[in-house]
Amino acid sequence: MNPYLPDRDIYRRARERMVAQQIAARGITDQRVLEAMRKVPRHLFVEEALRDQAYADYPLPIGEGQTISQPYIVALMTEALELKGEEKVLEVGTGSGYQTAILAELARWVYSIERHSRLLERARRVLEALGYRNIFLRVGDGTKGWPEAAPFEAIIVTAAGPKVPEPLLEQLAEGGRLVMPVGDEYSQYLVKVVKRGGTFHRQVLEPVRFVKLVGEYGFAE
Ligand code: SAM
Repeated sequence: MNPYLPDRDIYRRARERMVAQQIAARGITDQRVLEAMRKVPRHLFVEEALRDQAYADYPLPIGEGQTISQPYIVALMTEALELKGEEKVLEVGTGSGYQTAILAELARWVYSIERHSRLLERARRVLEALGYRNIFLRVGDGTKGWPEAAPFEAIIVTAAGPKVPEPLLEQLAEGGRLVMPVGDEYSQYLVKVVKRGGTFHRQVLEPVRFVKLVGEYGFAE
């Protein structure tokens, strides 16, 4: 049996419940985000032994000491990017590839960078099997961005750094939105930066807890 075929999707009801109880009930209203989260089969982005927990209200381990983020946090960060469908988006921290798939549902092109090649190759296999054709993946230090593909209308960083990396601000398009957890290793706030008239407007969203952003413009390993 091919678990990637939609009619084999035994988790559809779990996904609908997840969206209703964890996401819409907590104030996410962007209908496109809610629809994408109802559609993307999150259980395929975690290892088989964890599939029954894939729609629970917490992050899960994905190997290499990393995690797939809690569904609500994925929704919150995605909504903050204000995607309408035509954007080029940069994601730093591909991880399982789940957030990448959500972005690919909502934007024109997604560029995603992951520092662990093993995680990236696993994410690539799942995303390809699901049929996504608007995603570019690369192994590397995402704190330096993806200059050849810049500027980006939206940038999402799914690991926490001490500050927003300078190269990412440089690669943000005019009118663009960047969302990222900023703080120390143990506690952080989700920060949204909007570039308007050449200046950066910063807004603090919610306290969060993420794994470390490791790289030249992040934390040391
Ligand atoms: N968005 C992911 C998902 O849906 O599964 C969650 C990613 S996890 C919370 C954060 C990821 O960021 C980890 O896979 C980690 O290896 C990666 N990471 C940390 N520092 C990085 C860097 N400088 N460049 C690229 N990836 C990085």
